[in-house]
Amino acid sequence: MKTILHTEWTVADICKGFTYNELEGKGLFGLDGRLTIQPEYQRHYIYNDGKRDVAVIESLLKGYPIGLLYFNRTIDGRLEVLDGQQRITSFGRFVTGKFSIVDSNNCVQFFSGLPTELQQLILNSPLLIFECEGDEKEIKEWFKTINIVGIPLNDQELLNAIYSGEFVNAAKRVFSNSQNAEVQKWSHYIRGDVKRQDFLAEALKWICANKKKNIDAYMSSHRHDTSINELVCYFDDVINWVSTTFTMVNRDMCGLEWGRLYEQYHNIPYSIDYISDRVQALQSDDSIKCHRNIYEYVLGGEKDKMLLEIRIFEESTKKAAYYRQTEDAMKKGTSNCPLCAMEDNANKTRIYKLEEMDADHVTAWSKGGATSIDNCQMLCRTHNRSKGNR
Ligand SMILES: [Zn+2]
Repeated sequence: MKTILHTEWTVADICKGFTYNELEGKGLFGLDGRLTIQPEYQRHYIYNDGKRDVAVIESLLKGYPIGLLYFNRTIDGRLEVLDGQQRITSFGRFVTGKFSIVDSNNCVQFFSGLPTELQQLILNSPLLIFECEGDEKEIKEWFKTINIVGIPLNDQELLNAIYSGEFVNAAKRVFSNSQNAEVQKWSHYIRGDVKRQDFLAEALKWICANKKKNIDAYMSSHRHDTSINELVCYFDDVINWVSTTFTMVNRDMCGLEWGRLYEQYHNIPYSIDYISDRVQALQSDDSIKCHRNIYEYVLGGEKDKMLLEIRIFEESTKKAAYYRQTEDAMKKGTSNCPLCAMEDNANKTRIYKLEEMDADHVTAWSKGGATSIDNCQMLCRTHNRSKGNR
């Protein structure tokens, strides 16, 4: 791979003919039309949070270097940004009046309002740019390596870079498009940032689990497909199933494994009203520690209580129940385990120590019994275990 270090270009050179697509949130071109700022394998512009973009401008105003930029020379002789897109887009947007900074006198300043010498300071800032030329594989390997600086690419952004092509482009238009009206609905169920490919990552995860493929293999085999029909249809099926089955929208639904739940339960018919009643009832149950799993619990016919992490009795409650029972048993001359007391063997009169006993719900939790002192009895280990997980 060939590399050249450029020191002759300034911020002004790069900003010549700078264009920015507000809708897609991406810088397009610079260097008088010779530079593509956001090639398809680059992520969206994510510096526009009023902190990182401002920090780039402040660095320039203080005369600090903003770090190495990497450009790639393509076969047709054009340049594209390999690394530095975020920084370039930040100064490009500032110079073209897209955002403001707050100066040392606490005044909001757009570029056009800055004193001429400060404007010149920014425009004349020298840049260090590595230009490289190599085959696609080399460039992409290198891109992977240099991206350990700055905000690292997440897994999906890396996959998009490695398998860039028609499929990724089409998928991004649906799943990484903040203008897509569906995103809001998806956000009820999927956690993440549309610009950082989190929805695309989830869509791929679901279809790949269904096809029993890994995501790399799937993206690789579809790389040059122009249709993303399969991906979109399956994703819509999952989302539609969730939103039809659960008519409520709760915050704890976000980020659940809906793809897995869909696979497991979508062939079972449910009564929407019944599901809704049960979810609501369980949500107001104080004994349940893990509210997020209520949906899966209800889908599974309320069998797997482990999912809910039912609250256990407090130590103080256990102690109180123990002393109450033991005192009573000593008076009667029977075992302090009420079940041992009913049996005809050596344990009939045995007084267990506190640590030899476990707390039990007199009326089972699943039958509406509360996790309170009134519903707590201590049983010997053997009886508690044999009573089982009711
Ligand atoms: Zn017992």
